[in-house]
Amino acid sequence: MNVGILALQGDVPEHRAAAASVVGASHVALVREPRQLEGVGALFLPGGESTTIARLLQDSGLWDPLADRLREGLPIFATCAGLILIARDLEKSPSGADPPTFGVLDVLVRRNDYGPQGESCETELEVTGLKPSSFRGVFIRSPRILAVGPQATPFAHRGAEVVGVRAGATWGLAFHPELTGDRRLHALFLHSLRGQR
Ligand code: GLN
Repeated sequence: MNVGILALQGDVPEHRAAAASVVGASHVALVREPRQLEGVGALFLPGGESTTIARLLQDSGLWDPLADRLREGLPIFATCAGLILIARDLEKSPSGADPPTFGVLDVLVRRNDYGPQGESCETELEVTGLKPSSFRGVFIRSPRILAVGPQATPFAHRGAEVVGVRAGATWGLAFHPELTGDRRLHALFLHSLRGQR
């Protein structure tokens, strides 16, 4: 199976390196246009700026085919801005300039709620499925998960707060595992797909 990295904006090289360390570089493809989406069996949606990524998805003609693939169950691993783009609902931001979303992960999120502008904050998280379960979480103006609906399951926590949610092969994280050098979450996601395709 080939794994795609949505490569329009954001921390694409970091996701590419993390995915390549799990499945090998020859199985990782950058996705910038619709025909490149056709060949992938799973997609990483990077962190970056969700309004910019949404605009580039529309300009490149990728929005509609990606929406179709997501509705059909394309496995997706979405971090930070990526989480925003797959969320069912966004809390309206004060500026009102929110991106459209694909709505495939049953969460309500508030944008720009962890880590001040231009700075990151790092903290220990607990991730179900990892052994040991502790994972370094990097947050950069990250979305906060305000509510998790019945279709989704929290699996990553920062204290009592939910920072990672999954629904089958649809995973959304408020933080950036691709920026830590710890590949265990990419591996957990990709290994969970074995036997599905
Ligand atoms: N604040 C960004 C947004 O709303 C997300 C930040 C990130 O991906 N690090 O898109």
